[in-house]
Amino acid sequence: MATSLDYQGLSYQQLLWSLIAKACSAGLKAEFYGVLRYPEGEFPLLKLSSMEHERLVVVSANIHGDEVAGALTFEHLGDIFSYADARKVSLIAYPCTNPTGFDRRIRYNIRNEMGNNDFLRYILPDGSAVDDIGEGRDFVEWKWSSDASLGQKLPLETQLLHEELKRLPFGCIKGAADLHQDCFLDFCATHYGSYAYVLDKKEELAPIARQAEGIVPLLRNTQITSGYGTVVDENGQVIANSSIGPWTDGHGFVKRHDGSLQDLFHRLGVPYTVTVETTGNVPLEKSVAVNLAWVRGIIDLAARA
Ligand SMILES: [Zn+2]
Repeated sequence: MATSLDYQGLSYQQLLWSLIAKACSAGLKAEFYGVLRYPEGEFPLLKLSSMEHERLVVVSANIHGDEVAGALTFEHLGDIFSYADARKVSLIAYPCTNPTGFDRRIRYNIRNEMGNNDFLRYILPDGSAVDDIGEGRDFVEWKWSSDASLGQKLPLETQLLHEELKRLPFGCIKGAADLHQDCFLDFCATHYGSYAYVLDKKEELAPIARQAEGIVPLLRNTQITSGYGTVVDENGQVIANSSIGPWTDGHGFVKRHDGSLQDLFHRLGVPYTVTVETTGNVPLEKSVAVNLAWVRGIIDLAARA
């Protein structure tokens, strides 16, 4: 599957207008849920939707700016939306939630602010607030990380996505897929394939992982250190990473309640959620194919939910 987008030199503005043109020709609604205003320029945040049906799936991508396979998956947005429509599922897509990171091919935003995937906090029995409870330790309650009582400063991209998500009809959302890429060099040098963050309903989601296995190897029983203890330099490039991290299970799944966008959807009662990962050494078209397999699989499950 070739992508007509020349991703190497592709700017966010080019991506944005290409996707808007495709959305218009496919009869989809294209709108901006916010605009990032930096001295370096303005970056509208794109939302695509088709809301004909009661059941809804949300697909998001490129929260980490260097993980371009997510945004490029929407090169196929006509196919994605018609697949959902044929199964009587509405779809909302956020193709690139970190435009300045996309432009620079860096993990965080133009200010190198971490916290772009910061969506909730767990209040522990001792009153402290943490964003990561591993596979699920006891907590008293959870809050959006933008809750005023926490006094948390979030990157502008994340603030605007919080505001947008709070407007969604959560009772209708039956599935959510957040598309990532594992671009950590140490990991990619020794691994090639895909894995996924899955919080529950493993048995129902496992067939999707096996389908993706027809595209690239599934990283079963593999330690994932990427994204833990990450340090970036002044240019936004990742220079250090933890040597410890969780292991995938026999399905290639990691269970991690880490306050991410997926974790938020899970806590809000969305039955089927996934964060899809392909290693950075997987050819782009194969990463896109894995992403499409997961998006279709989540739509199929949502249609039956
Ligand atoms: Zn990521």
